[in-house]
Amino acid sequence: MIEKVIEGVYWIAGKDKFLPDSHVYLIGLPERKDYSLVDCGLMEMGSYKIGEIESIGIRPEHIKRIILTHTHLDHIGCLPEIMEAIPGIQVWVHEEEGRYLERGDDRVIWGNKMFESMIRSQITIPERYFDLKPHRKLIDGDILDLGGVRVKVIHIPGHSIGSIGLLNEEHRFFISGDTIYADGAIGRYDLFSADPSQLRRSLELIATLDIDCLLPCHNRVVKSGAGPMIKKTVENWRSLLS
Ligand SMILES: [Zn+2]
Ligand SMILES: [Zn+2]
Repeated sequence: MIEKVIEGVYWIAGKDKFLPDSHVYLIGLPERKDYSLVDCGLMEMGSYKIGEIESIGIRPEHIKRIILTHTHLDHIGCLPEIMEAIPGIQVWVHEEEGRYLERGDDRVIWGNKMFESMIRSQITIPERYFDLKPHRKLIDGDILDLGGVRVKVIHIPGHSIGSIGLLNEEHRFFISGDTIYADGAIGRYDLFSADPSQLRRSLELIATLDIDCLLPCHNRVVKSGAGPMIKKTVENWRSLLS
């Protein structure tokens, strides 16, 4: 399912299987023909995501880059499929997790050994499947012009070391990855490179942003009026994260 959220922003809902599949956002104004994807989803979900995009008349070759909110498996899993389907597509990721990808260190991707062996027992994934050199390593404060839609990169570590959010000041939307969701939920903070006190600081930072539309990478999307919900979520979790 693909749905337009606001002008220049489409939401492709994740299709959870035995593992969650992240939502994907497609960003860019139609006349610019310079689209960006935010996250990819789980393995074998590449053709579903591309099919949804084609269903609204957007040609895959007009997708120029993939921005990863972070590199957990449910967000990066089908990246190799998409890179094969769209030759020349670039990968942009925060520098902290970009370094792991470059080194071929996949501990952030899997989160922990138990997940890795459980998933590898069900699907064949070649060794070093996710090794890649990102085309751009993002840092906090980067301003990106994504096909006419301007977003600011906000580094929000805690769920993972290189988690980022993307803030658009014009329409007040925020793509929050797995750091904060709708309805009072936040991302887990027990996987490799996670840090509960960093997560608390990141949530406190998010609570200071002027956000109306919350676009997380799982569960419900909040198209308007998300500000009070975000502040309440942060308030509720603050004392539990140290
Ligand atoms: Zn995650
Ligand atoms: Zn996720």
